[in-house]
Amino acid sequence: MEYLGQYKAVYKAKSGCEDILAKAQDGGIVTSMFAYALETGIIDGAIVAGPGSEPYKPEPMIATTVEELFASRGTKYSVSPNLALIKEATRSYGLDKIGIVGTPCQIQAVRKGQLYPVGLRDVPDKIVLALGIFCMENFPYQGLFQMVEDHCATKIDNVTKMDIGKGKFSVYTERGVNSQIPLKVTHKYEQPGCHVCLDYVANMADISTGSVGTPDGWSTVFVRSAAGEAAFNKAVEAGWIIAESMDGVKPGLELVEKLATEKITKNQKYLEHRAHKDHAALKPLRNPYI
Ligand SMILES: Cc1cc2nc3c(=O)[nH]c(=O)nc-3n(C[C@H](O)[C@H](O)[C@H](O)COP(=O)(O)OP(=O)(O)OC[C@H]3O[C@@H](n4cnc5c(N)ncnc54)[C@H](O)[C@@H]3O)c2cc1C
Ligand code: SF4
Repeated sequence: MEYLGQYKAVYKAKSGCEDILAKAQDGGIVTSMFAYALETGIIDGAIVAGPGSEPYKPEPMIATTVEELFASRGTKYSVSPNLALIKEATRSYGLDKIGIVGTPCQIQAVRKGQLYPVGLRDVPDKIVLALGIFCMENFPYQGLFQMVEDHCATKIDNVTKMDIGKGKFSVYTERGVNSQIPLKVTHKYEQPGCHVCLDYVANMADISTGSVGTPDGWSTVFVRSAAGEAAFNKAVEAGWIIAESMDGVKPGLELVEKLATEKITKNQKYLEHRAHKDHAALKPLRNPYI
């Protein structure tokens, strides 16, 4: 499965903690892994997408307590420049063992920073747990706001959850699903930079997780590195995570692979189109991969 990256194991999993699940996006894997790692000293802080000052506008935050992790639960479908705090975490926060969550592109940036630490003195060895979340596309905040307020006719202040799945963008309020729009309506709001992205399931993370592949309330989890495997197995043993085999789970890995293949082939085509001498910009555009 070349589009799913390398992994040691894949699970259907969810948090063993009902409090985490109450406001988690899916199985609460990110919050549970970081909470377990914080409590046991695997990490001494985690860079997460905090709630910020405007609804659903994420703000990078360094969580050093379980309460702060709780405040960061849930997906915000907008850019959260978590990498911006990676150096500061080792400076004023004085962290030695850093956890970080991010979309596939952000995990690529973490690895690039570790291999080529330009301006990142002391940082590379201090990243100990990089959790990746699956990502098909992201939206600038203004675009997200319009999707919610104009297309879904919902005040963003009243939203309790947003979700992309089964071909729809769904907005929930206290009363349940308030509005759903087909993804073809949201395409024009996507970040243009996402159209050259060739990673769906955070191939370079220690552990990657997303909703696709498993039933509601559960997550699909790829355990990739030795560090990821050690932390995940211990979290399962300690009851923070419930992990089951993916065998026979519907829609399962087949759907994850189908979506990864669709994303990567579509974006690969766009990269080739950009590089063509007859591109609309009247010149070939740069290919960041070569
Ligand atoms: C832009 C975007 C697109 C996504 N697309 C898909 C998809 O196509 N298919 C799929 O299966 N899953 C997708 N996901 C992932 C999914 O929505 C959940 O984030 C993931 O399953 C983790 O859920 P959880 O219950 O384990 O996390 P929780 O325990 O609820 O914690 C969520 C964690 O995600 C972090 N987070 C929230 N928003 C952002 C953000 N914008 N940038 C970086 N970190 C963030 C928070 O800091 C928190 O730590 C996407 C997520 C994002 C942000
Ligand atoms: S689609 Fe790619 S570039 Fe866009 S946010 Fe997701 S991982 Fe990053």
